[in-house]
Amino acid sequence: MSVIKANDPKLRSWVDVPAESDFPIQNLPFGVFRTEAQLPRVGVAIGDKVLDLKALHILGYLENLPFTLDDFLCDNLNRMMRHGKQATRDLRNRVSKLLSSDMPDLRDRDHHVRQVLVSQHEVQMLLPVKVGDYTDFYSSMDHARNVGMMFRDPEKALLPNWKHLPVGYHGRASSIVVSGTPVHRPLGQTNASDDSMPSFGPSRQVDFELEVAFITYDGKALGERISTSQADDFIFGLVLFNDWSARDIQRWEYVPLGPFLSKNFGSVVSPWVVTLDALEPFRVSGPLQDPPVLPYLRYDGNKHINIDLEVAIRPEGAAETVVSRSNYRHMYWNMNQQLAHHTVNGCNIRCGDIMASGTISGPTEGSFGSMLEIAWKGTRPVPMSDGSSRAFIQDNDTVILRGRTSNSGIQIGFGACEGMILPALGEGA
Ligand code: MN
Repeated sequence: MSVIKANDPKLRSWVDVPAESDFPIQNLPFGVFRTEAQLPRVGVAIGDKVLDLKALHILGYLENLPFTLDDFLCDNLNRMMRHGKQATRDLRNRVSKLLSSDMPDLRDRDHHVRQVLVSQHEVQMLLPVKVGDYTDFYSSMDHARNVGMMFRDPEKALLPNWKHLPVGYHGRASSIVVSGTPVHRPLGQTNASDDSMPSFGPSRQVDFELEVAFITYDGKALGERISTSQADDFIFGLVLFNDWSARDIQRWEYVPLGPFLSKNFGSVVSPWVVTLDALEPFRVSGPLQDPPVLPYLRYDGNKHINIDLEVAIRPEGAAETVVSRSNYRHMYWNMNQQLAHHTVNGCNIRCGDIMASGTISGPTEGSFGSMLEIAWKGTRPVPMSDGSSRAFIQDNDTVILRGRTSNSGIQIGFGACEGMILPALGEGA
């Protein structure tokens, strides 16, 4: 791999970066933003600011890179991503160079700085990619085991296939929304007491799922596969992902083809895509996989990533309460294995596909990634700051996911992934 100069922990930016910021110069995540006066465009986060790549391109700072103005004057990152891994790596290295404290080119041109830097408070962040297909895996062993214990046999919590392949299902792309977009409580069929007739109405068990998702570049042709060693070249970056789930609807509908309407009423992504390049310094080893996996799922090197994750619930008008602290490294299956498995039958992936991890639960009670597990099927409600308690998510609650990682004195993060549940619409039968 070519050296990623933008990851040098010694770099400092001439743009002021607050000490606790998720976006120091070693991060430089990509997103799409708009202002009141301007059309959607591509930007890079630095401290409390957004660097406008469209303006930067017009001013000539991105020359000798393969990008055109249209790649940045665009309401999604797909056009930019179509240029592939090396081009976007070169772009991030260029941005890093322009923002580093010892480079005067942009720093000393005040009239240019005013055109390319916008305060994050003045922009609206949009869904970063035009989502092609959305796949959701089920790759956290602690989560799969918890759910298996609750709904099946505690002695056989993991199904026989679980340690041999990264279980997943095809989700729905159309209802993926950006952080800050509220979603209505879904209506649907439930059958809590296994009566002969189901009931219909608003779900009473709306839940979050703490997940991390990766976004792909264009893959190979239909019929060709991507190996675990090639997978990194097809992954652009990562976002936080809240896969809203209605447990009561899910329980009744999921047999035999898996979840359907319990999962497709909304999923929330964080607006800044943290590149896989930026996360390279934070790689860690994964768990020992026993029994050994089939040859096509073997991998070399450290392919897991150490990302501290946190979930908070903010009831309407109250302060937030942190309900879980977990880590992305708890995954049993890593992204390389997920992508190798996804394509092993010849399935083709496309630029802008979103592949989510599945609920990430750690091994201890404080690290579970859903209310289903945290409140253990409603039996252990969690106290909130306003004196109320939660077994599941109530109307007008906001759920906030956060993710951060640190190494060598550098801390980078994802910003927040926020979503609110609104009351159900039109509660008819
Ligand atoms: Mn999920």
